[in-house]
Amino acid sequence: MRKPLKQYYKMSKYQHLIDSFMKELELKNSHEPEFIQAVEEVVETVIPFMESNPKYKKAKVLERIVEPERVIQFRVPWISDSGEPQVNRGFRVEFNSAIGPYKGGLRFHPSVNLSILKFLGFEQIFKNSLTTLPMGGGKGGSDFNPKGKSDNEVMKFCQSFMTELSRHIGPNTDVPAGDIGVGGREIGYMFGQYKRLRNEFTGVLTGKGINWGGSLIRPEATGYGVVYFAEKMLNTKKDNLKNKIIAISGSGNVAQFACEKCIQLGAKVVTMSDSKGYIYDSDGIDTEKLSWIMNLKNVDRGRISEYIKKYPNATFHASKAPWNVKVDLALPCATQNELKEEDAKLLVKNKCIAVIEGANMPCSPEAISFFTENKILFSPGKASNAGGVATSGLEMSQNSLRYNWTREEVDEKLHNIMLNIHQQCVAFGKQEDGYIDYVKGANIAGFVKVADAMIDQGIV
Ligand code: NDP
Repeated sequence: MRKPLKQYYKMSKYQHLIDSFMKELELKNSHEPEFIQAVEEVVETVIPFMESNPKYKKAKVLERIVEPERVIQFRVPWISDSGEPQVNRGFRVEFNSAIGPYKGGLRFHPSVNLSILKFLGFEQIFKNSLTTLPMGGGKGGSDFNPKGKSDNEVMKFCQSFMTELSRHIGPNTDVPAGDIGVGGREIGYMFGQYKRLRNEFTGVLTGKGINWGGSLIRPEATGYGVVYFAEKMLNTKKDNLKNKIIAISGSGNVAQFACEKCIQLGAKVVTMSDSKGYIYDSDGIDTEKLSWIMNLKNVDRGRISEYIKKYPNATFHASKAPWNVKVDLALPCATQNELKEEDAKLLVKNKCIAVIEGANMPCSPEAISFFTENKILFSPGKASNAGGVATSGLEMSQNSLRYNWTREEVDEKLHNIMLNIHQQCVAFGKQEDGYIDYVKGANIAGFVKVADAMIDQGIV
């Protein structure tokens, strides 16, 4: 059963329309709670907008946009180092191609299922639209767990996964990238297998190594983009990041580079985490400490708890998220639904002024509702973490041009894209009292471009 709708939007006079749309969606997708949650977050703002723009309603754009164009599920057999046959489940959700080839990451994590990939693919449609680049929405992955596997096992798995996926993707059809559990190593193995099978060196994946078609700044892009977006949000209050105290969750790709950019802009990051707990360092995680964390996570593949052995002034809090720490800004950069209503209450009580999502859907609907009711600056991931896919789009452009932009050129383009996304959110999300509802702004701005393209292309 669906949880009650968010208080904040419950005021809507279009509530009956939202409820009846959601009832229908739930009937069809009853075993997909994450997907239902992601759709609900969008329709709460898009349905009222459609009531004053009836062309979308007439063309049944919303009914069509929630149905993926194609869902592919397949078997991924591989052999472990001990010689035992293994099998995992592989997926690709090709959600919407109205404005460009399907584009979105691959996630390798034991929790992966169709509901999670449909939620991520659905979010991706709007996110990609916001970047202003020509990219449709998609997502894929597997319930394979790379943790604890040897490089050889990861390679075997990736090759088997790509053997099937290669039939469905291509540089003008569907261009996957990384996500949780899929970094440079996995992209490399999958790219190698695609090239071998198709005898083609093309930009079929993004997040590639710099010597074989990758873009400078792509590894940094999501985290940097989150922080550029945070700075723009603070600027609306005539404020900035300098000397701000920040809690970051996660210690993977997004968290690491969000932390790096926070440090560069003069802020103090006091927490990072993984699925086993968080570390708190009241002195702040500086450049040297961050580079130790990067080595721990990316090379040694260790646990964040090891930080306190190296830096004994810090503390480790097992099985906890860092939202009880007193901070100015919170950047959830780990995973979906990692920040709940009780966490939101603690943050607001501790005078947190802004929450910027680095992960996809890390805040529960109740937490978002609490932030918006309390007029806390809040940005949904589809806006603030769009820098990663935007730079993937720039990687695709460079591959097509057979040309590489410099680090400064890519960073400047990323910065401008984040600024542009922020402007779109303000244009569609500014309330009468001046509060910027970034959820509403991002949903409507992202929707309009895709919906117009769908209408132009007819009923397909
Ligand atoms: P990584 O795999 O590099 O890192 C994920 C981090 O989150 C790890 O520290 C991991 O800890 C932690 N984590 C995972 N699951 C949980 C959990 N259940 N509870 C607490 N912590 C958890 O992934 P990314 O940094 O790439 O992705 C993080 C988020 O950002 C995801 O939501 C992803 O979809 C989103 N995102 C990523 C983009 C990118 O370019 N990479 C682009 C846009 C969004 P542990 O090591 O213990 O598992």
